[in-house]
Amino acid sequence: MGEHVRVAVIGSGFGGLGAAVRLRREGITDFVVLERAGAVGGTWRDNSYPGCACDVPSHLYSFSFAPNPDWPRTFSGQERIQEYLEHVADTFRLRPHIRLNSEVTQLRWDSEQLRWEIDVAGAAGGAFTADVVVSATGPLSDPKMPDIDGLDSFPGKVFHSAQWDHEYDLRGKRVAMIGTGASAIQIVPAIQKEVAQLTLFQRTPPWVMPRADRAISKAERWVHRQLPFTTQARRGLLWGIRELQVQAFTKRPDELGLVERIAKRNMHRSIKDPALRAKLTPDYRIGCKRILLSNAYYPALAQPNVDVVASGLSEIRGNTLVAADGSEAEVDAIVFGTGFHVTDMPIAQRVIGADGVSLAESWKGGMAALRGATATGFPNFMTIIGPNTGLGNSSMILMIESQLNYLADYMRQLDVLGGRVALDPRDTAVAGWNNRVQDRMKRTVWNTGGCNSWYLDENGVNTTVWPGTTTEFRQATRHVDVGEYQVLRPAAAAAPKSRGRKKKAEASAA
Ligand code: NAP
Repeated sequence: MGEHVRVAVIGSGFGGLGAAVRLRREGITDFVVLERAGAVGGTWRDNSYPGCACDVPSHLYSFSFAPNPDWPRTFSGQERIQEYLEHVADTFRLRPHIRLNSEVTQLRWDSEQLRWEIDVAGAAGGAFTADVVVSATGPLSDPKMPDIDGLDSFPGKVFHSAQWDHEYDLRGKRVAMIGTGASAIQIVPAIQKEVAQLTLFQRTPPWVMPRADRAISKAERWVHRQLPFTTQARRGLLWGIRELQVQAFTKRPDELGLVERIAKRNMHRSIKDPALRAKLTPDYRIGCKRILLSNAYYPALAQPNVDVVASGLSEIRGNTLVAADGSEAEVDAIVFGTGFHVTDMPIAQRVIGADGVSLAESWKGGMAALRGATATGFPNFMTIIGPNTGLGNSSMILMIESQLNYLADYMRQLDVLGGRVALDPRDTAVAGWNNRVQDRMKRTVWNTGGCNSWYLDENGVNTTVWPGTTTEFRQATRHVDVGEYQVLRPAAAAAPKSRGRKKKAEASAA
């Protein structure tokens, strides 16, 4: 067997780099970060499409332990976020741990040795073993392409928003944009001026709010550099405002009607044609899908070289795209802004747990994890941004940092227990947590708002979003309650009364 490490982290986006920083801060240096691509950054490395920026303000969408007084804009672009992540990797001396171009192809739990066997392809090729695995592959990492008849024989250019082909020149081309999510609404205004014709295939119109984006002045940045507490104060304010909004999303969706009025006014300002306005007006409660922010989307749609097809793409015949309503458009290139494999993340197929069952198989009826992190039958395996940890209105970095607290305490608990040991969440604990989450979910706008979104899995269950405040999640993940876990010891060291399910390793209650 190859190299053994205390912890293997998979992925080097915000989650993976954050885990690496946190492990070092806990005094753990025996770890690797396995990254399939050639650079750190995760989704912010991959999504380099024109116009890509974050719709959460930068002072909140960054690590609390790595504040950046020099954010250039309130909503910084992808390049600056990618630079920030590279900077984090350097500042916290993470580079020696990171193995780039190293893709995890399979993870198997070894019930005898109580550790994970990890097959890796690429630069760090071969095998690793690890006591603990932190899966930080992210929910927005594997692009989703719809299954469209005739796509394979389309003679023009095709790419996904997360795999932008910068070599391809869109100037003067007839381009189809498929989808109207957060990615598409940034791409449309960024390419509209240069293409000959842009046809937008809109299956569902989004709610689009104005975006309070502006440059952060030199003076502001100077103040942030000289007086670091001002950066923290700014962050605190941004966080507090969003924290106050949560109740409307989770308990009183009717209150969001007021927000719909602002979004409608935003549309009316740019879209003067009533027929186009009708096409663009959503028929579901704002917030049910992610609320999008843009000042440029509607003005771009009002331009003469843009056509909105209010129907999904259903078939391709040669160069002709056919929508579900029968309308047709002839194009040279198709950009798919069709999102990601979120509730069916491919990494889950590669993780084989204690019973020889994959995580994907175990989650077939719906993803569930104790405190968004650990799943029964997958000992010492933690997912960052796991089930029901997503947010509809605030910064995912807050949730990631809560999960890092949980990871840190998890490592401490393993040390306290001592010796070769693993923790496997009790199925009753996972079910209890999940039932509470799903119970709270019933009243939320994501479940009652009358839309279909990527927050829901194929069974219509919301397994992605956290139905509470970030403060509540912070509290729930502050400590690991060992009572929620089976403590696994090697067979020889186990107590006489062992549990039957594990064939080789035996479990003894904490
Ligand atoms: P997405 O929100 O999943 O949107 C996918 C879009 O593709 C939807 O509009 C969907 O329509 C549409 N679609 C799928 N199949 C189609 C078909 N056959 N014909 C027409 N349309 C079709 O994906 P995304 O825009 O990449 O965003 C994913 C998430 O990434 C966001 O929700 C956000 O969390 C994050 N993100 C953030 C930012 C930012 O911070 N600014 C930017 C980009 C992405 P339906 O609505 O009908 O399903």
